[in-house]
Amino acid sequence: MCRNCEIILDKTMHLLPSPTALRDYVASTNAKVALVPTMGALHAGHISLMNAARQHADVVVASIFVNPTQFGPTEDFGAYPRTIEDDKALLEANGVDALYLPTVEAMYPQPFRTQIRVNDITNCLCGKSRPGHMDGVALVVTKLFLQSGADVALFGEKDFQQLCVIRQFVRDLDIPIEVIGVPTHREADGLAMSSRNRYLSENERHIAPTLYETLQQVVAKIRQGAKIAETCAWASAQLQEKGFASVDYLEIRDEKNLVLLEEGLPHIPARVFVAARLGRARLIDNLAL
Ligand code: AMP
Repeated sequence: MCRNCEIILDKTMHLLPSPTALRDYVASTNAKVALVPTMGALHAGHISLMNAARQHADVVVASIFVNPTQFGPTEDFGAYPRTIEDDKALLEANGVDALYLPTVEAMYPQPFRTQIRVNDITNCLCGKSRPGHMDGVALVVTKLFLQSGADVALFGEKDFQQLCVIRQFVRDLDIPIEVIGVPTHREADGLAMSSRNRYLSENERHIAPTLYETLQQVVAKIRQGAKIAETCAWASAQLQEKGFASVDYLEIRDEKNLVLLEEGLPHIPARVFVAARLGRARLIDNLAL
């Protein structure tokens, strides 16, 4: 804790409605600041990021912004759960110091003409199955970094490709911020926590943990010497048998550069990645080999 800083001693969470309010607040703290960007509809996975942030900084600033530029025209931007009063209470109860709540107008003043595009590592996984999604993420996160001037920022490994993209543009653009990845927080039955889990019916919620079970089975099989292509095809078929409507991808990739791996047990850090549709929800997960 920064003992010289009155703001930290004040237990009330600060609400920061504009980029100027955010910048002024961060500048006034005179302490190490962590930023945790979210789209709200908060759950224990988000809180694990807030707790990790506390380990790395004196002041924790969360942001909630449902970012329109990262949703495709047929995606769930309108339907995305918005639970702002519950979110505020949860953040405050967990000792978050400030909450940044910008408007769409403040984030994207018209006419808005700038893009941030990260090449290569966005051509696969969610970058491929959700065209434009990673560009929208890169844009909004760049803006949040520049607006806040935070020292560190925390992101979940659940969105592993997103984490890779953020690390890449931070390096490429010399943005002075440390990016920290936080392991995926799971329900007791293994399902990765996600705001979109609310879309699941009771029956779908029973089926959903099959996603993580299947990833675990893939890892076990590959470690025992099974072939990657056959194992991924088997896993994809298993998910559909269990009730998933379709599988966008189920692949093993190099953890560093997201290059597809097709041979035997990789000798480099690798992960199995999956995205699959269950009812209204598109669920993603990944697991280290
Ligand atoms: P979102 O609100 O879904 O955009 O997520 C905001 C941040 O929380 C991102 O960095 C996500 O990767 C992270 N996050 C979401 N779900 C989890 C989870 N189950 N465990 C850890 N981090 C998560």
